[in-house]
Amino acid sequence: MLEAREAVKNLHTYRPPLAGRTGLRLDFNESTVGCSPRVLARLRSLDAEALARYPEREPVEKEVASFLGLDPAQVLLTNGVDEAIHLLCSTYLDPGDEALIVVPTFAMYAIFAQAEGARVVEVRAGDNFKFPAQDLLAQLSPRTRLIAVANPNNPTGAAVACNVLIQIAQQAPQAALLVDEAYFEFHRETLIDRAFVDPTTQIENLFVARTFSKAYGLAGLRIGILAGQARQMTMVRRVASPYSVNAAALAVLPEALRDQEYVSRYVAQVLNNRERLQRELGNFGLHYWPSHANFVLVRIGSAHAEFVQALRDRGILVRDRNSDPGCEGCVRLTVGSDEHTETLIGALREVVEQLGLRSKLRPALPAEVRA
Ligand code: PMP
Repeated sequence: MLEAREAVKNLHTYRPPLAGRTGLRLDFNESTVGCSPRVLARLRSLDAEALARYPEREPVEKEVASFLGLDPAQVLLTNGVDEAIHLLCSTYLDPGDEALIVVPTFAMYAIFAQAEGARVVEVRAGDNFKFPAQDLLAQLSPRTRLIAVANPNNPTGAAVACNVLIQIAQQAPQAALLVDEAYFEFHRETLIDRAFVDPTTQIENLFVARTFSKAYGLAGLRIGILAGQARQMTMVRRVASPYSVNAAALAVLPEALRDQEYVSRYVAQVLNNRERLQRELGNFGLHYWPSHANFVLVRIGSAHAEFVQALRDRGILVRDRNSDPGCEGCVRLTVGSDEHTETLIGALREVVEQLGLRSKLRPALPAEVRA
């Protein structure tokens, strides 16, 4: 009988709640308004011939590289950050190697690392989800071959200073350090310039990933970027399919990059609304963690499932993160446009009353304690 590899049999099934997502979708950190009209127009202009051809990645890779100020040899376009993670795991992890991750975090690091037969070493974030740099360094071993850090992190919204990440890369030269900047546009701090542009601080074992799934509103097209040093990227390219980024995605990507005004306007709204939502959560007496991304993690307590359902009853989808390490009773709310945040806050007001959450919870901590 055909048997899957042991490493695969041991994997847990990761099934994000994708079914029945009708309503205001604040559960996957997508853009709530979608991509720029210019991108949509480009997509609509594609003809049968454009789809009959195998996609040609290189010319678009050149444009992306120039947008980032990098050499094309330092850039690989991927089928979302998910593929970038998968490729790094295939390139660097042998069975028995160790992959270090800080939890709670994005689920795919552990899944792809375990699929290679690597051992996932989890380091718990500190108080208020502070990045546990010392604990992480203490877990380094000669077998550590991958370290994955989302910056800002999902689902906590916490960020770590670029200097700390550089230090980690330098102390683990035998490991690939993936810094996943999926939420870069909402945080605006990046390692790309420091790590790959400035010749005095080039770091051989560092990789940075970006996505068009969030601020650009293109999650459905599946486009991501993996940046790294040319020598390492040559190895990563060996395991990548030449066609994993589809023709429609490649056709619209240059237009998405050119319409920066659209992205900036949406990001500015999200940043305002993030402040507004955090303020309202504080007013409701709910404990939240100040976020550097386009979502906010809030502690609801034992009523987390009823809270998610009560919002669903009002046509709003949010994500229960109760099962994530350290996130007991927590729910993640995506921050979107002005109109969508208004709708969310209105519904939150009702749900907080309906479930009697104000009286059940201790008052929110002052901001300086939360940070
Ligand atoms: N990294 C992080 C930290 C994420 O939160 C997500 C999406 N939830 C991804 C990567 C996935 O990005 P993509 O859609 O480009 O695969």
